[in-house]
Amino acid sequence: MATRHLIIGGGTAGLNAIRTLREEDGASEITLVSRERPYSRMVLPYYLGATIAESHVYTATPASLHAWGVKTMLGRRAASLDTAEHRLTLDDGSTVAYDDCLIATGSRAARPPIPGAEGPGVHSFWTLDEARAVIAAVQPGTKVVMVGAGFISFTILNAILSRGAALTIVEVAPRILPRMVDEACATIVARWLEDHGVTIRAGATLTKIEEWKGKRKLTFKKGAPIFADVVIMATGIRTNLEWLDGSGIEVSAEPGGGILVDDHLRSSVKTVYAAGDVARGPNLLTGTLEVHAIEPTAQEHGRVVGANMAGRDLAYRGSLIMNIVEVCHLDIASFGQWDDANADVFTATRADRSQYRKLLFRGGKLTGAMICGPAEDIWTTNDVGMLKGLVYSGADLSAWKTHLKGNPFDVKPAYLATHTTGKLLPQTILGRASHSPQLPQSVMVQ
Ligand SMILES: Cc1cc2nc3c(=O)[nH]c(=O)nc-3n(C[C@H](O)[C@H](O)[C@H](O)COP(=O)(O)OP(=O)(O)OC[C@H]3O[C@@H](n4cnc5c(N)ncnc54)[C@H](O)[C@@H]3O)c2cc1C
Repeated sequence: MATRHLIIGGGTAGLNAIRTLREEDGASEITLVSRERPYSRMVLPYYLGATIAESHVYTATPASLHAWGVKTMLGRRAASLDTAEHRLTLDDGSTVAYDDCLIATGSRAARPPIPGAEGPGVHSFWTLDEARAVIAAVQPGTKVVMVGAGFISFTILNAILSRGAALTIVEVAPRILPRMVDEACATIVARWLEDHGVTIRAGATLTKIEEWKGKRKLTFKKGAPIFADVVIMATGIRTNLEWLDGSGIEVSAEPGGGILVDDHLRSSVKTVYAAGDVARGPNLLTGTLEVHAIEPTAQEHGRVVGANMAGRDLAYRGSLIMNIVEVCHLDIASFGQWDDANADVFTATRADRSQYRKLLFRGGKLTGAMICGPAEDIWTTNDVGMLKGLVYSGADLSAWKTHLKGNPFDVKPAYLATHTTGKLLPQTILGRASHSPQLPQSVMVQ
């Protein structure tokens, strides 16, 4: 059995793998190589909004990892992997030998190849360093233009507004959130945001950013230019895989790329696993290999890989694609195959109350759902949880389909009658309850 485990990348997937490895096996050697210190990207919006201190973004300190018996090489970048010799080479030329290893190097923000996209005053918001730069740049009265109206820009929207900035969002697609919600939902969300002072310009192709009298001038294919103090590019992400060139590890040529993995999350080289944003893992509902690039997938991948590295034989069911976000007290969520053209689709809108529901069925199973409504409306928040549970559990809703068709807002009776909570509770990724040796989820910097 492998005794020298190497984890490359100290984000969500890497840390969950380490945690699980230590739960399963207290003795083996673990080395963590990570360019950045372990922290959670998902909480960066709260740091931007000043609701948490910077010290709270960290998920482990060198000291806490040491206490776990993890050898750390932080601030070092993996440069190449020799899978035949079981050896990683770092950016300073030093090497690390391993018996098995996990690639969990995540992804990074990508900017469009237009003039000025890398210029001064233009930011991304993916890493802690990038978050610090945005915090320094956005003050009360700052005019911010966010390029890209996808999930990530929506996760930082509240924080930008809370800093007192004036916000404009531009989007190349004809509507906002094009990969998260359908047109009917997007219309409700856009109206809500405009009512809360956010300017939205969809269908806008940015062609150039340039300096103009101390401001950034954004030029578009059509329409008037926009002037801003700060530009934030939220225009997609790219997996951190280039350093694996020549390693023999198979990477997908499909859009989104990602390391191809089997049901144990092993790559084409069986001593090398992949997890999180870099892995093209199975979709829970379809079995198709996809990059989901969301936190729950990274957590689950990490847990499964950690168990398999420890010698268990754990197959992964697959991950559910889900996006949940709240903007200006409006909850928006979508789960599973929400844009499945071949599903039975039931929708309902209460435009005056900014509420929307969409349910997608394949036979008697709910395979996708979408929801939007004011967060102060308790049923919105409850329904987000219930719809996720119904999609995740694959509950048989045959007896409820007609009712839900006529009443897409009335989810609770179906949820209760199918005992979905009771079915979900015993389901764990590892097939057992957690007995973590207390790796802190969030720790103070020492
Ligand atoms: C602002 C923001 C908000 C988000 N909000 C949500 C949300 O609400 N819900 C949700 O589901 N998801 C959210 N996400 C996405 C989520 O954070 C990611 O899916 C998750 O972090 C992926 O985990 P990971 O371990 O695969 O990669 P990461 O967390 O990105 O970790 C990768 C690690 O690898 C290191 N690394 C990279 N290259 C190398 C190299 N060559 N050598 C060594 N180390 C390397 C990095 O420094 C980093 O430590 C958000 C992301 C951001 C940026």
